[in-house]
Amino acid sequence: MAESQKIKELISSERIAARITELGAEIAADYSGKELVLVGVLKGSFLFMADLARAIPGHDVLIDFLGLASYGDASNSSGVVQITADLTKPIAGKHVLIVEDIVDTGLTMEYLLENLRTRHPASVRLCSLLHKPERAVKQVQIDYLGFTVPDLFVVGYGLDYAQRYRNLPFIGVLE
Ligand code: 5GP
Repeated sequence: MAESQKIKELISSERIAARITELGAEIAADYSGKELVLVGVLKGSFLFMADLARAIPGHDVLIDFLGLASYGDASNSSGVVQITADLTKPIAGKHVLIVEDIVDTGLTMEYLLENLRTRHPASVRLCSLLHKPERAVKQVQIDYLGFTVPDLFVVGYGLDYAQRYRNLPFIGVLE
């Protein structure tokens, strides 16, 4: 309990659920009749992926994950990104939708989009739960966006601080 008192709620679990229902409907309509590969970026996207996948019921969906490590200090990504765990299947000819927790500077997603495009998917788009536009260094196109957040360090609903707080059901700010 002591730990959760340090977190100020920014986006409630109800707002997250409602927005994901809308995103799921939009994605299902856009990919109607097409098989879709959802690619979750570990670890931050694990809850978003679980809820988003269930918001696209009845759709032909494959689920895969990859792990990325971006180098830099705690609050600044350097743009040097390493794939720490790769996809389990090739994506050539597939419609790929990246499922990410947050786009901050945009450096990580710029790297990943470029990397996945070299594998010749039929298409590749980005779905991010959060976007911090004030911190953008690279302008990456977010095709499906949950929420825009201010320039604050957010945790919860998959997002961590030193590997903690991922299990909070809401998005909050560390005080
Ligand atoms: P970018 O390359 O866009 O600067 O950063 C991408 C990664 O930095 C995200 O996938 C996330 O892991 C981490 N990140 C950026 N901002 C935040 C934040 O406010 N909270 C947390 N927990 N992680 C963040």
